[in-house]
Amino acid sequence: MKKMSAPQMSDAELVAGIKRMKQEKDIVVLAHFYVQDDIQDVADYIGDSYQLAKLATTTPQQTVCFCGVNFMGESAKILSPDKKIIMPDINAGCPMADMISSDEIERVKAQYDDLAVVAYVNTTAETKAHSDVCVTSSNCLQIVRSLPQKNIYFIPDVNLGSYIKSQLPEKNVILHDGFCCVHHKIRVAAVQEMIAAHPDYKILVHPEAQAEVVALGNVVGSTKVLLDEVKKNDAPGYIVCTEVGILHQMKKAAPGKEFLVPTRTQTCRSMKRNTLQKLYDAMHTLTPEIKMDEELMQQALRPLEKMMELAESKVSTL
Ligand code: SF4
Repeated sequence: MKKMSAPQMSDAELVAGIKRMKQEKDIVVLAHFYVQDDIQDVADYIGDSYQLAKLATTTPQQTVCFCGVNFMGESAKILSPDKKIIMPDINAGCPMADMISSDEIERVKAQYDDLAVVAYVNTTAETKAHSDVCVTSSNCLQIVRSLPQKNIYFIPDVNLGSYIKSQLPEKNVILHDGFCCVHHKIRVAAVQEMIAAHPDYKILVHPEAQAEVVALGNVVGSTKVLLDEVKKNDAPGYIVCTEVGILHQMKKAAPGKEFLVPTRTQTCRSMKRNTLQKLYDAMHTLTPEIKMDEELMQQALRPLEKMMELAESKVSTL
């Protein structure tokens, strides 16, 4: 007999089901700023990767559904090992996080006596396990400045690393050649054209963009910093040099303002693998779940704890 496939649910039915399961199954839904609008609208919390991973430690729900890419689910699991962390698409990976290997880290470590390996939080647990401290785009300057080592191997993002290098000339920052394909491809000429056409608009730039684009920014910072700038609502419009998913929250923060995006490639395909249907299915089946080796979790926790210790000791400077 022919197998009947399940009838397709409408978006409204999926949203209703997701809301119902949050209550019935005691699940909190976390969504990164870069996932699609309909998921942001149904999430309990929206934020950047580290903000959300930290938040997962404090939510009362024992099951966390993390809508983002897989290193984010890993970070949430490392910080909340007793919670169940599920993801709509566990195969949604970050190309930048995959651009560094533990062999490469060990190769550089062997070349210096006085070296700190500083990993951007946008890295896999394996990479974190080989690093001394993690940083976010918000606290990287503060943390690198506070390290006793002169030699800093910053991984994996060459653009954020170059930004740190330019701001902290007292350090010998050794760069890796990884990059975020979304931010790296923002063309400086396209930004300049927009500035010429809209000289009174504010230029918001994420430091994962190339140095020439970063140099044009009125505000350079993490996704949250850029959103906070829009909340001030003190410009007629904004030229946004980061992933387009953030526009959803920016438009809510400053309705009626114009938001311009310089290049068409500012979309992260990995983030867009999260769909309402996959979110519904993950909550329905409580899979796929992030499972990690105990020892790896312990090793990857060390640089995250070091970051928290150093970040909380001073006020952020970026
Ligand atoms: S936006 Fe860039 S850093 Fe973020 S998940 Fe996509 S590729 Fe990775």
